[in-house]
Amino acid sequence: MNDTEWFASTLRDWFLQNGRKLPWRDQPSPYEVWVSELMLQQTQVVTVLPYYARWLERFPSVQALASADISEVLQLWAGLGYYRRARFLHEGAKLIVDRYGGTFPDDPEELKKIRGIGSYTAGAIAAFAFHKDTPAIDGNVERVISRFFGIDGDLSRGEPLKLLHQTAHKVAAHGHAADTNQAMMDLGASCCAKIARCAACPLAERCFALKHGLTEALPTPKAAPAKTDEYRACLLLRQDDGRCLIARRRSELLLGGLWEFPMITICKNSTNAASECRLPRHLLWKNALADIPNHWNTSNIQITHVFTHIKMTVILDTAQCATFEPHLNLQNATYDSFNSVSLKDIPSQYAISTLMKKIIKAAQRIDMQKTLPL
Ligand code: SF4
Repeated sequence: MNDTEWFASTLRDWFLQNGRKLPWRDQPSPYEVWVSELMLQQTQVVTVLPYYARWLERFPSVQALASADISEVLQLWAGLGYYRRARFLHEGAKLIVDRYGGTFPDDPEELKKIRGIGSYTAGAIAAFAFHKDTPAIDGNVERVISRFFGIDGDLSRGEPLKLLHQTAHKVAAHGHAADTNQAMMDLGASCCAKIARCAACPLAERCFALKHGLTEALPTPKAAPAKTDEYRACLLLRQDDGRCLIARRRSELLLGGLWEFPMITICKNSTNAASECRLPRHLLWKNALADIPNHWNTSNIQITHVFTHIKMTVILDTAQCATFEPHLNLQNATYDSFNSVSLKDIPSQYAISTLMKKIIKAAQRIDMQKTLPL
């Protein structure tokens, strides 16, 4: 038996005994695989489980999701992060209903025409729901294949990427790809995790990395993308009745569709960020959003949040007026809708990001009387 055959059959035997029992693995529909795979991107299984259950209860079918309002979709997603995934699900559901009559295509190439479905998700849907012998290569699968077959180099490009795909296709072609794909995922999440525990691994007998002492060296680390260092000001604008202004980000932007206190960018990757943050901002706010003479202040509160490519620091500005409507410029490139709401009601009534949750916590500590003039 050659290494590929041995790898596929040993993994499958191991999986049938040891595979994780997860709600999206029990004869799933393509819709269930799609929802679970999008939730699992960048998010741990244990975090996804309650979200998945709530989602399926509220949107049990692609038709139910397609007919839902995006604000409800985002609200149900709130807390999972990377909100583009929720938008992709909603847009994709509409497309599947409109173009495919509500029935998922079973061809991975056709699935990839749906926005937000890449090679991995297409492979997962084809293998897990349609029992096709297609690979589904995620980070765990990459690590197991790279170590077992000894594939080195940057697996995101060039020859190493090609070799990875060729190997994964050969493994899948042995049949039962749903089992072998999930086996690699489970093995990569257990004994073949970042720190390998080879003594417990069913593949140890023929593993290249173990044999050559390369378990720490493989897979070759990918170059980390540089992070943008961005500073923003965020405005807690209150009316005398205590209600705050919140605004909804335009759908095409980062965190699109979510609600927040309005923000403006102060600087990005600046070597002078500290002094730029101290510059007066009432003119910036006037141009961007509102003109409230003599009522601008800044707090000394800064909130930091790290996205995949951005390290963001948000400084909280405050302003107060009898009623803000006459002061607002609503023709805004960042926001498409505005509302007034009491601070305590925001988390339960609006879809908001984790960053906004941090900002609300900070805002609750502010004594409006004690903030400094801008
Ligand atoms: S033997 Fe070790 S390195 Fe090889 S696949 Fe198993 S856990 Fe990973």
